[in-house]
Amino acid sequence: MHALEQKILNEGIVLSNNVLKVDAFLNHQIDPVLMQQIGQEFAARFKDAGITKIITIEASGIAPAVMAGLELGVQVIFARKYQSLTLKDDLYRAKVYSFTKQTESTIAISNKHIHSTDKVLVIDDFLANGQAALGLADLIHQANAEVVGIGIVIEKSFQTGRDLLLDKGYRVESLARIASLDNEKVTFVK
Ligand code: 5GP
Repeated sequence: MHALEQKILNEGIVLSNNVLKVDAFLNHQIDPVLMQQIGQEFAARFKDAGITKIITIEASGIAPAVMAGLELGVQVIFARKYQSLTLKDDLYRAKVYSFTKQTESTIAISNKHIHSTDKVLVIDDFLANGQAALGLADLIHQANAEVVGIGIVIEKSFQTGRDLLLDKGYRVESLARIASLDNEKVTFVK
C-alpha cells in the first residue's frame, strides 16, 4: 500500500534493527485519513471472504480494525490485556508473549461477542513473531468460530511471524512488508 509505505518512510523511526516506531500515525497519534485508507484496503482484500466479525488487540489494533469494520459493515471486538486475571467463566483467554515488552500476558474476550457461526478477520498493527495473532486465533478457536484471515498493517518480513502463520494454514494480508531495518533504514519487500 503506497500511502502507508510513504508514511513509514517519512515519519517512522527505526529504533533498532528489529523495532520500528510509528507513534506519529499509528501507535500514539493516529492519522484518521490514513486509517480510513487502511480500512478500505483491508475491506477490498477480504470483501469476498464472508467476514462476520473483526477481532484485534488493545490498543494499537483498534483504529485500523474499526476502520475495516466500518468498510465491511461488521462489529469489531478488541481483546483486553490482563496482567493477572481473576478467573471468570464467561471469558475466552489466551497467553501471549509480547515482542516489545518481552513479558507474557493474558488476553481475553467475553464469550458473548463471538459465536460458532462467526467468520472472523484478525487485525493487528504489527506482525513480528506472530504471537499476538496466534493468541487472537486461539480465542476464535475456543468459540468454535472460523479464522478467515489475518490482516496486518506493518509486517516485519525478516521475522518469523508470517511463515509461522502461513504454516498453520492462515491467510495473511499485510499492507506494508518490511524486508529490513538495518542501518537505520526501512527497506520494503519488492
Ligand atoms: P508478534 O506477536 O507478532 O511477535 O508482535 C506483534 C505485536 O508486538 C504487535 O501487537 C505490536 O504491538 C508489537 N510490535 C512488534 N514489533 C513491533 C515494532 O517494530 N514496533 C511496534 N511499535 N510494535 C511492535
